[in-house]
Amino acid sequence: MFGLCAEGADSVVWHPKSRTFDLRVRNLPLEKFLGIVKSETGWEIIVEPGMDQLVGAEFNNKLAADAMRLVLGKSRFSLLPRLEGGTRLTVYAGNILSATQEVEEVEQEAELSGNQGPVDNPLITLPIKIHYLKSRYVSINADLKATNLRPLFAGTNEIWKKANLRFVADRPQQMVSADMSMEKEFADLFKPEVPKAYIRQHQSRILHKMLPNLPDRGKAFHVVLIYTMPDAFGAVYMPSKGIVLMPQVKFAGLIDEKGVWKDGSPVFFAQSNILAHEIGHSLSLPHVSSQGNLMIDGRLREGSGIGPGIELTPAQIQMARKQAQTKGPYVPGVNSP
Ligand SMILES: [Zn+2]
Repeated sequence: MFGLCAEGADSVVWHPKSRTFDLRVRNLPLEKFLGIVKSETGWEIIVEPGMDQLVGAEFNNKLAADAMRLVLGKSRFSLLPRLEGGTRLTVYAGNILSATQEVEEVEQEAELSGNQGPVDNPLITLPIKIHYLKSRYVSINADLKATNLRPLFAGTNEIWKKANLRFVADRPQQMVSADMSMEKEFADLFKPEVPKAYIRQHQSRILHKMLPNLPDRGKAFHVVLIYTMPDAFGAVYMPSKGIVLMPQVKFAGLIDEKGVWKDGSPVFFAQSNILAHEIGHSLSLPHVSSQGNLMIDGRLREGSGIGPGIELTPAQIQMARKQAQTKGPYVPGVNSP
């Protein structure tokens, strides 16, 4: 049923944000399978004693209930949120009341090599160099304490797990700009009298001159943190630099002429989706217009109050992995697969 040479390791991968499973399991005793699901998801799982069939299935991106239906076959189950929080999965043959036995967690590492992923899509780990811009201008000078890299990268990795790509942040370094006069021009963009149209027209030119051309451009991934930007979609990938530029505070505004700062969105720090999207650009993916996709155009979302989606199509995954195999970001004329 699973092809002639399905020798790949079994794996159960749970994506908590999308509530989907990627699964590759053959002839596994039910209780062991449920134990792995418990350790991956944190669900409470209750089973009817004595159920000992073997289960198996192979698929990607199936919602939790659909995934369980496919794996459990003729067994019955209920998958419900608990009043006290979390989720309860109950598996039974006849009557739900006969499900009385709590399933013990089974560590996947020892039983299955779940982190290796499918044989045809082996895990690619990509180090990312992190830079904090140093400047005498408040708008530029990044604050070491204002960005928590761990949840930022955890969320990004959760999204990119479906391509079996993993990003690891290097120890942060300081970065100084390449052009002092551009720093001033950038800071001046925040003056209250500067029209939005002027900002949109000049911000990119100023940033391109202000940021250095890194010697390993196209050979390593870089994320540069800047304190804030007067106009941006949360972050931006600069293909000619091979840099994801990420403001720590979104749309901070200058509220009086002496330079008193009002911070923008405080939820910004949690927006790993934005980093995942910009990393998508750095992996050569262009914008798409399909709702729910990670690479949906930021302008289509503007004003709608919704963040980018997290879906990736098989074609996007293939394209991103091809770029990832070069170990560097997409920089036209310097690095493309
Ligand atoms: Zn974009």
